[in-house]
Amino acid sequence: MSFHLHGVFLGLLLSMISSEQHILASPVDYLKGVGPQRGEMLKKELNIFTFGDLLHHFPNRHIDRTKVSAIADISPDTDYIQVAGVLVRSEVIGEKRNRRLVAELRDKTGSLELTWFQGVTWVQKMLEPGQSYLVYGKVGFFLGRPQIVHPETEKWTPQKKEGQAWLEPVYPTTEKLKARSLGGRQLGKITQVLLAQLRERDIPENLPASMLSKLRLPSRFRAYQDIHFPTSPKAYADALRRLKFEELFLAQLRMNLLRSERHRYSKGVVFDQVGEHFNRYYHEFLPFALTGAQKRVLKEIRQDTARGRQMNRLLQGDVGSGKTIVALLTMLLALDNGYQAVLMAPTEILSRQHYETISKQLEGMDIPVRLLTGSVKGKERKEILAGLASGEIALLIGTHAVIEDKVQFHRLGLVIIDEQHRFGVEQRARMWKKAVLPPHVLVMTATPIPRTLAMTAYGDLDYSIIDELPPGRQPITTVHRYEHDRGRVMDFIRAELELGRQAYIIFPLIEESEKLDYENLMRGYETVKSYFPEPKFWISMVHGRQPADQKEWNMQRFVSNDTQIMVSTTVIEVGVNVPNASVMVIESTEKFGLSQLHQLRGRVGRGAEKSYCILLTGQKLGKDARERIKIMVSTSNGFEIAEKDLELRGPGDIEGTRQSGMLPFRLADIVQDRPILEAARAMAIAIVEEDPELVSAENLRLKEFLTAQKGKTPWSRIS
Ligand code: ADP
Ligand code: MG
Repeated sequence: MSFHLHGVFLGLLLSMISSEQHILASPVDYLKGVGPQRGEMLKKELNIFTFGDLLHHFPNRHIDRTKVSAIADISPDTDYIQVAGVLVRSEVIGEKRNRRLVAELRDKTGSLELTWFQGVTWVQKMLEPGQSYLVYGKVGFFLGRPQIVHPETEKWTPQKKEGQAWLEPVYPTTEKLKARSLGGRQLGKITQVLLAQLRERDIPENLPASMLSKLRLPSRFRAYQDIHFPTSPKAYADALRRLKFEELFLAQLRMNLLRSERHRYSKGVVFDQVGEHFNRYYHEFLPFALTGAQKRVLKEIRQDTARGRQMNRLLQGDVGSGKTIVALLTMLLALDNGYQAVLMAPTEILSRQHYETISKQLEGMDIPVRLLTGSVKGKERKEILAGLASGEIALLIGTHAVIEDKVQFHRLGLVIIDEQHRFGVEQRARMWKKAVLPPHVLVMTATPIPRTLAMTAYGDLDYSIIDELPPGRQPITTVHRYEHDRGRVMDFIRAELELGRQAYIIFPLIEESEKLDYENLMRGYETVKSYFPEPKFWISMVHGRQPADQKEWNMQRFVSNDTQIMVSTTVIEVGVNVPNASVMVIESTEKFGLSQLHQLRGRVGRGAEKSYCILLTGQKLGKDARERIKIMVSTSNGFEIAEKDLELRGPGDIEGTRQSGMLPFRLADIVQDRPILEAARAMAIAIVEEDPELVSAENLRLKEFLTAQKGKTPWSRIS
């Protein structure tokens, strides 16, 4: 009985608390001046469902209300403008789609046309000829005359602006909302209503007081007020800085807490011995001296795997930086500690290549290595599965076939994933289930990720970099040539082939349709063939439409130098190793992104010979394409290229980010706000190091805030 009562009471109490806490969760319809109809529009058009969503719909600029321009000052360079004048006439003209409302606004200096295509009847009813209006909008020119399409208008008397905020917010909006008087400025009116209702406790502070004073940040409550209705440009700048910092800091804090939790509580297999296999290989079979970077990374891996917790490490190294040997040595380490190890690659070709390299390198060591891909079938497959289950097979190399449920390991201790971005997080998680203690995970990628992005998208992983190429590599010469140079480019290829080398010619995926791409490639192939009629030159072709075995066969012929030219789409992009190839020609280079170009170029320059990369383009190039080509010609440093790529394209498109959801920032831009990001990260790390459970009085707010957020969708929807 008493339990029952307690339950009711508790429930009541909770609902009281939550109804107070969640004023920001109230449906936007409930806001005064919104109502069900406009509420519906706000949801549909801007994804604004709640008070909180509206609070987070930030203005994209502010206009100085005190500044009214003269119509005569409008020039072709004018962008947005605010003018005031008398509405001298308005009329509906045109038929059907062309039906529009045209009005004329006149001030002392001239006249301006205002046009509406939507909500024509309704707007016309609202406008009163003879009345003065304050008009705001984007100026366009129609038949040489300035006009504003769908302007924002309000009745105006010169005195009215007094007492208003100095800077008025303008919000992103849509044409439909504009027609419903929820234009860029009108959204400010309902936001103002909302802000007037909010108390300090509705937007409680979540950062430690010392941090606020150290960084001179305004309170959270103040910042939300000022980002919408600042009293001065400085107040706005401070509010923006505060909210950006908060976003970045909380994201960093969450990731570093996760990482620290994993470090403290996760259990993993222990690799605490460097034993016979590792040592023997290292001293007797290692084909070259390791670079300093390779040694450093190995040391990081050894420390990480010896501690008794699971390693979760991302290894980045530019193409050709020598990640395979690091993988092999780590596998031997697993073996020395009595565990099996797996190396996964995204394609059949790549896993075969790994298998061949590694088998060769292990010759004389008597270590059982096997290859398991989709095409391994029947008796051989059975035998491999049995060998893995009994523990007889120590090292397994393969495609995703190795994570199928049928594959059982005796004692799996290490999983290495090459070219990470092709394996999903989910696939990785499936590996865990294959062992009692989760195996160590090393994810290798040759897609350099800019530091800023790595900090945000991979902040919860540990992270190693091979930032040094093996000695003696000759730099690849990269040049830009136009379509009309094709003849000379082909002659150059011929000269290289005469010297015994091989060449790649890569075609982009241009069209949306696979069929058109295919036809495009075929035409390219025919052209190449016509340039090389000699019977001594053979051409391979590989593309996405070929069945796997045919692709494999064509690739293999190029690898073994039975064919000298490889015509291909980007399917050969990652990892393929043909050291004898010395020329990489990229067709329609303007269609490729920077990191893809960098990957493609990395297919040459892998042997002792001087290598060349030729970027072919059409005559006309856009600004971005020109920039990309300039970067490719001027540097071969993958990290530098990745940084530029991030600058050019923005973080959303960069390969190697897990999902755009990893960068859920409304305000912060990790490229432009890098200094804020660095500061936020440093502070988050310091806090986690000092107080990993956030128990100090100083960090209590943070803890409360994070706990409240946990498992709860934030105020707005996740799209
Ligand atoms: P990636 O990092 O792109 O996977 P690989 O592991 O395929 O690079 O190595 C590229 C080439 O460099 C291989 O031929 C490899 O044998 C060679 N290599 C790797 N490390 C060294 C080193 N320390 N000294 C000389 N050659 C090396
Ligand atoms: Mg590799």
